[in-house]
Amino acid sequence: MKKRILIRLSGIVILVFICCVAVRAGTAGEEELQKRIRFMMDTYVTIYAEGSEETASRAIGLALDRMQEIDTGFNIVNPKSPLYAFNHQGVPISDEEIVDLVRIALEVSQKTDGAFDITVCPLIKLWGFYGDSPHLPQEKQIKDCLRRIDYKYIVIKNGEVQSTKENTNIDLGAIAKGYAVSEAVKVLRGEGVTSALIDAGGDVYALGKKGGKLWKVGIRSPRGEDLLGYLEVEDLAVMGSGDYERFFMKDGRRYHHIFDPETGYPAEGLTGVTVISADPVVADAWATALFVMEPEKGLEIVEKIPGMETIMVTTSGEILYSSGLKNALKVVPKAK
Ligand code: AMP
Ligand code: MG
Repeated sequence: MKKRILIRLSGIVILVFICCVAVRAGTAGEEELQKRIRFMMDTYVTIYAEGSEETASRAIGLALDRMQEIDTGFNIVNPKSPLYAFNHQGVPISDEEIVDLVRIALEVSQKTDGAFDITVCPLIKLWGFYGDSPHLPQEKQIKDCLRRIDYKYIVIKNGEVQSTKENTNIDLGAIAKGYAVSEAVKVLRGEGVTSALIDAGGDVYALGKKGGKLWKVGIRSPRGEDLLGYLEVEDLAVMGSGDYERFFMKDGRRYHHIFDPETGYPAEGLTGVTVISADPVVADAWATALFVMEPEKGLEIVEKIPGMETIMVTTSGEILYSSGLKNALKVVPKAK
């Protein structure tokens, strides 16, 4: 059964996109709402949880610690990460968490005909997106790079991640944040928290309700700061991918960090994708995957996946959404 999702959009808005959360810390019904912020995964992660200073704040701290642990362990520039050893020396990965995540990533790759591909790592490096000054590479460099990119070079054998081609590198950036969020949810639940909201830089999970009411997750335009509307959700992840997160402009064109593994260039056609699912890992992976795919094809696949919904905004400003959201869509007239 689908979770209750309501969308209210203000005005005759063409470009809308969920990419930020608007919640106010303070009191929620009888309970207090605790809040803590920490910088990790290149963003500010905020967790709100209902409960006393003692119990809820403690649980939030533990959840943030767990997220930080994942950030460190999955960081490809950390020499202690199994991903570093894999990428630099071809050492197979036996870390169970990473093996499980790679397994999920490979499934998404198969279902998307390789639009989602964790071996895009060399492309991200070539385009300079690991550093502070991304730039347009030469055509030949991109072509050379593409030879190293194919998710089929990655296999899971005897419980280990291995590669069948030398120099295959992987990057879990498209899925690790979702995993960190899902682990934070586990920690919060384990600590007895029944109402919380995790906001990992616009990627959100709403646990339970806030003061007995559904959590409100704000909707923002991919091309502006304005808040256009909101989603009302409970026990759901709302994760976004967009061309506004990391990009540079050259000759009037926008070049961003989500690559089409077919061409070696940033994916074209959409400005933002939001995926809603009970599983933050699934939502994160699919948001990136759908961003790369041809929108109509992506929508077709989403319709076949139970419990998953999506909103896509095309470069021409058209909003596409899966049927589960279409039924729940409520338009609020613009205030005069
Ligand atoms: P997200 O913000 O979740 O969409 O993740 C974006 C990150 O995913 C990028 O910074 C890259 O590290 C990685 N990435 C880029 N293109 C792809 C792709 N086609 N498949 C999988 N991961 C990708
Ligand atoms: Mg993602």
